[in-house]
Amino acid sequence: MNNLELKRAILQKIEEFQTIIIARHVKPDGDCIGSSLGLREILRLSFPEKRILSVGRPASSFFDFIGSEDPDVGEEIYREALVIVLDTANRDRIDNENYIRAPFVIKIDHHIPVEDYGHINYVREDLPATALIIADFYETFKNKLKMNSFAARALFIGTVTDTGRFKYSGVNAETLKLAAMLLSYDFDITKIYSYLYIRDISEFKMHGYILNKFKTTPRGVAYFVITQRLLKKFNISAEAASSLINVLDSIRGHLIWIFFVENKKGVYRVRLRSRLIPINELAARYEGGGHAQASGATVRGKGQIKKLVIEADLLVGEYKDRNPGAF
Ligand code: AMP
Repeated sequence: MNNLELKRAILQKIEEFQTIIIARHVKPDGDCIGSSLGLREILRLSFPEKRILSVGRPASSFFDFIGSEDPDVGEEIYREALVIVLDTANRDRIDNENYIRAPFVIKIDHHIPVEDYGHINYVREDLPATALIIADFYETFKNKLKMNSFAARALFIGTVTDTGRFKYSGVNAETLKLAAMLLSYDFDITKIYSYLYIRDISEFKMHGYILNKFKTTPRGVAYFVITQRLLKKFNISAEAASSLINVLDSIRGHLIWIFFVENKKGVYRVRLRSRLIPINELAARYEGGGHAQASGATVRGKGQIKKLVIEADLLVGEYKDRNPGAF
């Protein structure tokens, strides 16, 4: 099926079901929450007689300013519901094990396809945020669907957070057209950026510490290990510290940058970022995956940290051998 046929099939299912539950991935980011709340609002406005919920385990409060998800509703209701899973490439990352009870599941995502877990799988790698897939869905059926400022704001936040404020590769004319449509609704962009940028002093101190102490490899990987001890010392959450990953994003010659964040003793969440070099396969070797330029993984113990860094260093070396003079 082409994209239009897939969109038609999705709308048909939405029309068919009385109860629709929107699910998302674990550790939700701005795109995940923004696309969920944006879609929920569009559907609630368009189909006021239906029961439409957005359900996920409570996570970090950073994105609470977008809006609130719904409390969980128990297993039974899933047996009659359409479940739409947003922004999630594979089953294991779905933050709602009840989705499995639903008679019909739709996957809507923009990541590199890993698993077709839905009855309909609508994946748009050409759009850099799931929020934009929802905006485009609205655009396609705007004679049938309704949008308001709340939905447009949520989708705009999803878009700006997943595109690095329209900076990452993947941003194209379609991105800006859809963003322009969202911006035609009335919401306060300055407030959005205040929520996204204003930081506690502890984060600034940590930022400075990372800039002083990050490590590098011979061929061009920059990395930093955030231990639990360090989190305590700076009185900062793992989430807030992890969000500083792009502190290392523009060091000349360093095409891959990595944070290892100790979540449990000896277990590290890995945040990998790169310019030019695909890193998702490297992440996949360490219980992870993601995009070509932004992936996540998990490592256990210092030995695995070393191993992953060496493999990243090799990737940069190979790339530079093929592309002399790269940034
Ligand atoms: P993060 O550094 O956690 O923001 O992750 C960057 C990207 O990689 C996100 O788009 C995630 O969806 C994806 N990702 C992170 N962790 C994993 C994982 N364990 N498995 C698959 N994809 C992941």
